[in-house]
Amino acid sequence: MHTNSSRITLSVAGFLMISLATSLYPAKSSRSSGGDTPITVVIDAGHGGHDRGGIPGQRVAEKDMTLDVALRLKNILSANGYNVVMTRSTDVFVPLGGRVAIANSYRNAVFVCIHFNATGRSGASGIETYFYSRESLPLASAIHYYVAGGAPSENRGVRRRGYYVLRKTSIPAVLVECGFLTNPTEAAYAQSGSYRQKLAEEIAAGIRGRNSVGSGFGSTRVATAESIPLQPYMDQTKVTSSKKTSSKRSHKKSARKKKSSSKRSDSEASAASSNREG
Ligand SMILES: [Zn+2]
Repeated sequence: MHTNSSRITLSVAGFLMISLATSLYPAKSSRSSGGDTPITVVIDAGHGGHDRGGIPGQRVAEKDMTLDVALRLKNILSANGYNVVMTRSTDVFVPLGGRVAIANSYRNAVFVCIHFNATGRSGASGIETYFYSRESLPLASAIHYYVAGGAPSENRGVRRRGYYVLRKTSIPAVLVECGFLTNPTEAAYAQSGSYRQKLAEEIAAGIRGRNSVGSGFGSTRVATAESIPLQPYMDQTKVTSSKKTSSKRSHKKSARKKKSSSKRSDSEASAASSNREG
């Protein structure tokens, strides 16, 4: 899907974001994902148990797709020498606080949340990757670069948003939306084991490449041929925080109401409907 030229364009745009990023983020004291070896990857398969994920009436259950990709990712990473921890490895419900607590009990670790998107408009499609803290951006850039580059889907970009599982984690944390299960084409892809394997391999490539992202945050380091371009991102943190209050009270109702007024983008609608799940 990606052409080389679009990757180069993204890379240039990414560099333009560096100074902005530097001023936007509170600097955290330590980088917990320092070296290349052997880090712990905490894999979070979205939803589970009574929480199917997605929107009401959705045919393909998000919780099944996320778990399958997560288990495939676990196999790939384990075979490559990573220490892998799963927030769930069966069809059970794990509260968000429990997922975060697992992630935060590791150092020299990264947290990768796997989700699929959903919205009432079946035409919506594409890959989105979310992060919150500044130290999560290289991981988000790398995962998005590979997943969006490897999937035959639209690139919806890297987005900064304050999902609970991203805000509350003390290690680099990324949430990847691997396509829309409400889109017939992407739902068909998602139901293919070979496609889910491909998704897992691209996510693994992003985790491996997280330290090769050509950013530098103010340093003189420049992207080279081997480095992964820092993906440009949009900051949606304000959008989320304004919705969080209302979504806590009756997020499903408000999401549906707002969707029917169709003022917001698909991703915003789906974010509101799955806000508590991250
Ligand atoms: Zn989800």
